Amino acid sequence: MNILLNQPPTADIQALDAAHHMHPFTANAELAAKGARVITRARGVWLTDSDGNRILDGMAGLWCVNIGYGREELAEVAARQMRELPYYNTFFQTTHVPAAALAARLAELAPGDLNHVFFASGGSEANDTNIRLVRLYWALKGKPEKTVIISRRNAYHGSTVGAASLGGMAPMHAQGGLPIPGVVHIGQPDWWSEGGDMTPDEFGRARARELEEKIAELGEDRVAAFIAEPVQGAGGVIIPPESYWPEIQRICDAHDILLIADEVITGFGRTGNWFGSQTFGIRPDIMTVAKGLSSGYAPIGGSIVSDEVAEVIGQAEFVHGYTYSGHPVAAAVALENLRIMEEEGIVEHVREVAGPHLARRWAELAEHPLVGEAKSVGLMASVALTPDKASRAPFAAEKGTVGYICREISFAEGLVMRHVGDRMIIAPPLVITPDEIDTLVERAWRVFDLTLAKITAEGLM
Ligand code: PMP
Repeated sequence: MNILLNQPPTADIQALDAAHHMHPFTANAELAAKGARVITRARGVWLTDSDGNRILDGMAGLWCVNIGYGREELAEVAARQMRELPYYNTFFQTTHVPAAALAARLAELAPGDLNHVFFASGGSEANDTNIRLVRLYWALKGKPEKTVIISRRNAYHGSTVGAASLGGMAPMHAQGGLPIPGVVHIGQPDWWSEGGDMTPDEFGRARARELEEKIAELGEDRVAAFIAEPVQGAGGVIIPPESYWPEIQRICDAHDILLIADEVITGFGRTGNWFGSQTFGIRPDIMTVAKGLSSGYAPIGGSIVSDEVAEVIGQAEFVHGYTYSGHPVAAAVALENLRIMEEEGIVEHVREVAGPHLARRWAELAEHPLVGEAKSVGLMASVALTPDKASRAPFAAEKGTVGYICREISFAEGLVMRHVGDRMIIAPPLVITPDEIDTLVERAWRVFDLTLAKITAEGLM
């Protein structure tokens, strides 16, 4: 019997899963005891689970299903490409149509002179590429001592050893002896949690200047690059104060440091432009992309680099590559996804319709007694839960306790929100309609009511 065609009862799937499947970012013994939720189908912004519940996917999967679920065109293109050429590599002086065409399309879409693409299967691999790329770049420029990459605490750049080192997630560093040498971290522009008595703008500038201080401390001749997400995603949708990015850009320019914008989440329309760099006025030398590139329909990512970086790297053999770099099926799916995004004006929909509507409705959540700040850019948004709005105080309970309770309630109420500590975050598919945004915000309000009731009853408030 084909288990994919004849779906067994939920408990049977959960039993198989519990016995054999190790989940990412999960305490697996705890999950096995409880049973994973089984998602069986999805259309538009709506998921269906194996018990028939319909859930509004406020997270677009993992921030990736930008054009929404169920687009037949992508299935068609994948099937056609599998029949024509399911696989070939791009290593030994060969190429194929999907990889060449996608690279060219990305060069058109990417800002400035970001005209060259090195493909990977996802964001982590692409960031690993970036580590090697920037070090080789400086070596070829006769500055082999420029190797250090500066990143930020609470950044997320992926889960491979290199990418997790670039990231600034303390719990990740605590497992397996990270970060690798040559990666250092400065503070994040999270005014809500760390801004103290400063205004957001003062704080944004202060946090940007940590970059300049770190460069001075290390010596400019040792620093290869600075990497950052235009908006920290997994860190909690931390939208930086307006003063932050202009100052970072100034510092990178002044000190001859390559700027890597990790656009894995912010790319492909999420902030109301094709790239977050455009929304925040950043001029990166390298952009990391993945996720929305194929709307998650196929695993693909890459590094989009400037003419200058490509020219320098091109002088040598870059001894680096993945079996699936530029995978033809993934590349064909990505091309079709980009075609749909452009023809249907999905980026404009975010900028002119859905983003402004979400901004208005999401801001209302700040009136809720449990919510401190409620911020959004394009279609990514967060709220900070707090027992005391005025002082921006954290809860007495261990960080994340309330957020976790809130997330569980949210799922049960038919809305996928994610928690990062005690921040609740959303990033729905970009095709979400104003009516669906209303549903999302109304459900979120109810979820906060239920959370407040529960934590009050449990003495956590
Ligand atoms: N960079 C950022 C900004 C991300 O958000 C992620 C994934 N959440 C990654 C890199 C890693 O991408 P992947 O999971 O595709 O390896």
